Amino acid sequence: MEHPENDEQYKGLKVNDGVIQPSIINPYMKHRKVRRELSVNDYVEGILKGDITVLSRAVTLVESVRAEHQAIAQEVIEKCLPYSGNSVRIGISGVPGAGKSTSIDVFGLHVLEKGGKLAVLAIDPSSERSHGSILGDKTRMEHLSVHPNAFIRPSPSAGSLGGVARKTRETIILCEAGGFDKIFVETVGVGQSETACHSMVDFFLLIQLAGTGDELQGIKRGIMEMADGIVINKADGNNIEKAQLAATHFRNALHYFPMPDSGWTPKVLTYSGFYGLGIKEIWDMIDQYFVFVKNNGYFDYRRNEQAKYWMYESINEHLKNNFYQNEVISTMLEQAEQDVQMGKRTSFIAAKCLLDKYFDLLKK
Ligand code: GDP
Repeated sequence: MEHPENDEQYKGLKVNDGVIQPSIINPYMKHRKVRRELSVNDYVEGILKGDITVLSRAVTLVESVRAEHQAIAQEVIEKCLPYSGNSVRIGISGVPGAGKSTSIDVFGLHVLEKGGKLAVLAIDPSSERSHGSILGDKTRMEHLSVHPNAFIRPSPSAGSLGGVARKTRETIILCEAGGFDKIFVETVGVGQSETACHSMVDFFLLIQLAGTGDELQGIKRGIMEMADGIVINKADGNNIEKAQLAATHFRNALHYFPMPDSGWTPKVLTYSGFYGLGIKEIWDMIDQYFVFVKNNGYFDYRRNEQAKYWMYESINEHLKNNFYQNEVISTMLEQAEQDVQMGKRTSFIAAKCLLDKYFDLLKK
């Protein structure tokens, strides 16, 4: 074949003829199947049948920020709602390194011994920054990750803590409709995300470590008050005594708190997630709690209160998004910000102007 590049005028450039290529490079390669779009009914039917692939795809929709995905997700959630609620929801919290994933792996195997299905979800608002969550990471739960009756899902990463938490809460509904009767929600031990986790679980378990004796100072009062059970991990080797001492400190400290609404006095236990010691005792305590709160009506009360809380959260989030996503408002915001920073207007006046404008726009 003649190549124009080989013309005299292009000195130093020579193009050779190539070799003839076979029509198929790898005859064994299969074409990837294009995933069929599922309808709302496909999702609901798949979830109710316990199809994990469909459940995972539905959770991906819940986590998506795209409006069309959200529209389908919301319909799926609504249709799954009547089939949800039949599970025990347990929040598990602790600072990084407390042993959450080691423990969840062991706790999970323990609860699955009696049958049923377990979903491990997570709330980690930092996951957006770290691009990929550390919580709920399958590789951290060696046994559960290969267990046929366990479903592990890392934290949703899009948006604010409120957004992340709402998505986890919606995922709980889908998992329950899919027959998961045990739900763990893992969270990091840093204030806000624990409150969010507490607002969607029936039992809140706080994992602590024995420290230098002043561990109580580092833990915020509000978090102690949220806990239905405190467990001191790594009570093994020559750490047993320290762990027991820490447990005594926590028990003493709990005396100074008012009796929780549940009427249940939080218990403090020691255990070792790594060596699997004291696991049964922790689960006996949790079982006792459920019997206690189901008998005194607190179980239903807490769930109803949570439903109310999430209704308001949802309203707040929608209103906020609607305000900030309004085109007129978002152009005005920049100017308002500058005015406030330069002291031309007070924050309150600037806010009031923007809100007045927003309400005017709504009327039109
Ligand atoms: P997470 O960050 O809270 O999820 O904590 P990990 O489960 O990743 O555990 C942090 C470290 O503590 C790891 O090196 C674990 O092997 C270790 N660890 C966890 N549980 C125990 C335990 O019961 N005893 C001892 N000695 N080490 C533990």
